[in-house]
Amino acid sequence: MKILIASLSIIIISMIPSCSSQEKADLVIINGKILTIDKDNPFAEAIAVKDEIIIAVGTSEKVKRFIGEGKTSVIDAKGRLVIPGFNDAHVHFGPLDPDYIELRYTTDPSVITGKVREQVLKSKPGELIRGGHWEHEMFNDRKWPTKELIDKVSPDNPVILSRADGHSILVNSYLLKMNGITKDTPVPFGGEIQKDPKTGELTGILKENAESLVNAGDIKSLRSPEEESARKWQGYLLALKEAREYGVTSIQIPGNADFNTYEKLQNEGLLTSRIDIGKSLTADTSILRNYVETAKKYPSNGNWIRFGYLKAYIDGTIGSGTALMFEPFADNPASAGLSIMPYDEFENMVVTADKLGFQIGVHAIGDKGNNWVLNAFEKAQNLNGKRDSRHRSEHAQTIQASDIPRFAKLGVIPSMQPTHCITDKRFYEKRVGLERCKEAYVWRSLIDAGSLLAFGTDLPVEPLNPMEGLYAAVTRKDRLGEEGEGWFPEQKINMEEAIKYYTLGSAYAQFMEDRKGKIKTGYLADIVIVDKDLLTIPENEIMKTKVDYTIVGGKVVYASGK
Ligand SMILES: [Zn+2]
Repeated sequence: MKILIASLSIIIISMIPSCSSQEKADLVIINGKILTIDKDNPFAEAIAVKDEIIIAVGTSEKVKRFIGEGKTSVIDAKGRLVIPGFNDAHVHFGPLDPDYIELRYTTDPSVITGKVREQVLKSKPGELIRGGHWEHEMFNDRKWPTKELIDKVSPDNPVILSRADGHSILVNSYLLKMNGITKDTPVPFGGEIQKDPKTGELTGILKENAESLVNAGDIKSLRSPEEESARKWQGYLLALKEAREYGVTSIQIPGNADFNTYEKLQNEGLLTSRIDIGKSLTADTSILRNYVETAKKYPSNGNWIRFGYLKAYIDGTIGSGTALMFEPFADNPASAGLSIMPYDEFENMVVTADKLGFQIGVHAIGDKGNNWVLNAFEKAQNLNGKRDSRHRSEHAQTIQASDIPRFAKLGVIPSMQPTHCITDKRFYEKRVGLERCKEAYVWRSLIDAGSLLAFGTDLPVEPLNPMEGLYAAVTRKDRLGEEGEGWFPEQKINMEEAIKYYTLGSAYAQFMEDRKGKIKTGYLADIVIVDKDLLTIPENEIMKTKVDYTIVGGKVVYASGK
């Protein structure tokens, strides 16, 4: 035995010379408080990166050996918190429009009138005016806005202002007239043309499928096609800049987006977040076959631009009163919401696409909406066989208790946006009553039942900043930091969990947990350094936390300079 140990130590000593000539890193981070999200090695101090990949994680002492003079960039984290890059699992990412009228957090509706007037003055007659993110539950009077708010200041321009959830729009009389929409226009299935209950006149609010009555695409832009595309390109660059500054290194776009533009950005070295793009769910097999071709071009074993999942909507939102519920709304007993399509049609789509091996994600807000989604996924499993499909309920907002364990059982991912909880809680109780609020944003119950959550923002419904999501997940309090324990505090989660679902959870939802979402040897070097220790700071500091470094694939793409 002794002899064996002796000979082993000789082997170790003889290996030392090769250590000094060991591989040098391109980038090394030292002196960090690294939350790795790797359960075998939860905390570390230092990381070495070569090309796109993490090659060592450990103590600063150990990792310093990877520093090559003049060859390795070194970041001294000075004790700051280091975590995997944020992965937004549900984000309607795209070019930002510099002329878009931003109405988020508006409390006085007359502000809308003023902002539309301003934009009209800058525009030519006939030019489309766009804006949104208003939320009438934040208005002082908590009433739906009407076209009268904007008609006087926009006599010669079409105006479309979206509600924060995108499930309702406010339009002006000019636009209604232009599209021939009157109080006698037939209401499309799964939509609502809002009318004044007393006079029966149009209010200017169109919900869900009724939004498609407005053909904004036909409104001629007064810019040349060249001007328009240059503007769009700038819009993409602005959006990517925002993502870098917030530490969002991965983006999962629900449904359609422009593959070509992202490819162009990548070819020019300007793509600084990894992108998954999907397509719309359909039962049309010729379209599905086209999807297969696109998926081959952007394969799942790639790391930058990948084909994501097929997206559908089953219902609307609580805020717009269009979520599909088992029981009527508390503040509108005549309605239990609406389904975007009949169940049978939906199930057929799911079964058909599942059979071809696609991943499917369905927008589901109401308790009945989520029940339908689970039923359809279960049906697909029964007919097509069980596989690692990782179908998703996008939002999974209201879930009846008996459906909670079905998520883990069927392998369905709850893809959730923590900020929706603290935005919507303002009106949830009024809309659905206190009892059903217990079914809302049930993060803890889903985790306890064995689910791995995926976190995101639903931008532009909510802002892209992940700090708001982390704050919402651990506090369930409004953004002003109200007193008390938070809204249904039994569903809160802790900060370490919140970061895990925003990184590893989201990576799992896109089949990438083998290479993304952890700070671990062999994983992609997507890393964020923040300026405050999220694990120990008081609640009111979380949303003030800023990103100091964003690293994607081993490259520093953002540095605050601190
Ligand atoms: Zn969405």
